[in-house]
Amino acid sequence: MRNYTDKLNELKEKSSYRTIKNIEKRISKYIIVGDKKMLNLSSNDYLNISTNKDLVLEFVDKYKNNDEFLFSSASARLLTGNSKSYNILENDFCKLFSKEASLLFNTGYQCNQGVVSSLFSKDDCIFSDKLNHASIVSGLKLSQAEHYRYKHNDYDNLEKLLKEKRNQFNNAIIISESVFSMDGDISDIKKLVELKKKYNCLLMIDEAHAFGVFGDNLAGVCDELNLLNEIDIITITLGKSLASMGAVCLSNKTIIDFLTNKASSFIFSTVIPPVNILWTRFLLEEKFDYLKNQKEKLNSLFNKVHKLYPSISSSQIIPVIIKDALKTKNLAQHLQNKGYFVLPINPPTVPVGTSRLRISLGADISYNEIENLFTEIKNATSMAE
Ligand code: PLP
Repeated sequence: MRNYTDKLNELKEKSSYRTIKNIEKRISKYIIVGDKKMLNLSSNDYLNISTNKDLVLEFVDKYKNNDEFLFSSASARLLTGNSKSYNILENDFCKLFSKEASLLFNTGYQCNQGVVSSLFSKDDCIFSDKLNHASIVSGLKLSQAEHYRYKHNDYDNLEKLLKEKRNQFNNAIIISESVFSMDGDISDIKKLVELKKKYNCLLMIDEAHAFGVFGDNLAGVCDELNLLNEIDIITITLGKSLASMGAVCLSNKTIIDFLTNKASSFIFSTVIPPVNILWTRFLLEEKFDYLKNQKEKLNSLFNKVHKLYPSISSSQIIPVIIKDALKTKNLAQHLQNKGYFVLPINPPTVPVGTSRLRISLGADISYNEIENLFTEIKNATSMAE
């Protein structure tokens, strides 16, 4: 019998023990924890839409009598959980990403896990960036295919692996995030396209943190670089910038048909409710200009912040690497006392020795607020030296 208490104590000693926070509520860009109101710098609500009550009330007012204003689908999609609205939403995404077909999943986690675990069999091979999200890693573990994890954004290391291993397998795929969730750095999509062509692989890009933040169509980094047609599989989540729920895989008809038949996380799970589909469609179809405006505000904020605090980040996610887990935890607590809701990120979420604060910016946050935060961080860290 494993001793769970000992294992939990071990996590506590390493400052890696997790608890669910006592969050009272979120009001616009603020968060209330206990009775303390703080600037929320730890959310993925990058466009600051999720707490916009005017939008929510407009939506409810307009759609409350709609047949799809229902809070449960009560079934998986392949049973009775489908309706026209789901198909329309998938079609909206196909247009936005210029892709032939798409499939809605309940979460980004289920989407990545389902795609990665089901598409490849034992004669196949997956090359995955070492810092790819846990949902991709879970897919790798469930897949029957062989996999290799290349050093983060290290394309020499990837090419070395491709040279050595690619020919031993039938199908092969390279998988990377575009904006990395814990570092905010961006993969070199052009290089990945070059390598996928050279070594006859498919290319999958997870745009979870880029959708809504990059690209003329808000479709992410591949959209911004005009490379959408070079990417075989794109995954996005709707629970971050789009302030909704669900995720989408975009690809060609054959791959989407295959996933519909083989991805367990799609087949065997009750689909998100119709009201949620309506909400996502409302945002995409009726509020796109508002989203674009928020995206522009966010882009100009993070471009300014990168000058104030140069780091590996090229996006709205700014890591402040402290290295030591306990020091990171203490600094986060200090900043919370000062009114900034910043969370420590410790192993196993990030590699040992790279504990950090993960500051995520939102469109409605002002440059002044971030300037003050960094002054606070600077004072606190120089005091601790
Ligand atoms: N992909 C990446 C890169 C993520 O960071 C996350 C979540 O944080 C996901 C996928 C999972 O998305 P979801 O929260 O919708 O399950």
